[in-house]
Amino acid sequence: MNRVISIDGPAASGKSSVAKALAKILGWSFVNSGEFYRATTWAMLDAGVDVDNEVAVAEAAGSLELSAEMVDGISQVTIEGKPVASELMSSPEVNGAVSKVARVPAVRELVVERLRALADAYEVTMEGRDIGSVVFPETPYKFYVDASEEVRQQRRAAQGLTDQIAQRDRADSQRKSAPLTIPQGAVIIDSSEMTIDEVVTEIGDNLEN
Ligand code: C5P
Repeated sequence: MNRVISIDGPAASGKSSVAKALAKILGWSFVNSGEFYRATTWAMLDAGVDVDNEVAVAEAAGSLELSAEMVDGISQVTIEGKPVASELMSSPEVNGAVSKVARVPAVRELVVERLRALADAYEVTMEGRDIGSVVFPETPYKFYVDASEEVRQQRRAAQGLTDQIAQRDRADSQRKSAPLTIPQGAVIIDSSEMTIDEVVTEIGDNLEN
C-alpha cells in the first residue's frame, strides 16, 4: 500500500471535490469509491437484477467484471472493460438503488479489493463511507468531511441532480456491513460554511502537523 488520504462523509458533503483538488495539489491520484458502487448498481439495474433481493445481488456480484483504470490521475470505473458514463452513474434510478446494492457484503468485498489494488499502484486521495474505517484503517491520514443536511441538499440541487440524500444517509449509516461512521482517529471538518479551497487548506494544515 502506498500513501493514502482517506476522506469519508455523508452524501454531498463536498468530499469528492475536496479529494480531487487535494490530489491535484499533491500530484497524487484521486479515487471516488462511490463510483464503484454506482457502476455496480447501474450494471445490475441494466441486467434486470432485483436490487431488493440480497441473494440475487450477491450472485450478480460474483460474475461482475468490475475494474478501474487511472485516466489523468482520476480513477475511471469500467464494467466488462468499458468505462461507465458519469450520467448513468448519477441517474435518479442509481441514486435510488445504490444503498441497497452497497449493503450486500459480496458487493463490498468486490469493491474493497479493487480499491486496495489501486492503493498498491498509486498514492491516492480516496473518498467514500468506509475508507478510513474498513478499507485502509492503517492510514495515518484520515478525514471526515461533514455538512448540515440543508447545505448538502442545496449542493445536490445546484448540480441539477435528483438525490434522496437523507434516505441514502440513513441506509448507509444503519446497514450491518461497513456502515458510514467517523473512522477512529479521523480529523472531523464541518464544511457547511466553508468553500472547497478552505477545506483543502485545512486538510493540508493537518497533514503538515
Ligand atoms: O459517494 P456517493 O454518494 O457517490 O456514494 C454512492 C453510494 O455508494 C453511497 O450512498 C453508499 O451507499 C455507497 N458507498 C459505500 N461505501 C463507500 C462509498 C460509497 O457504501 N466507500
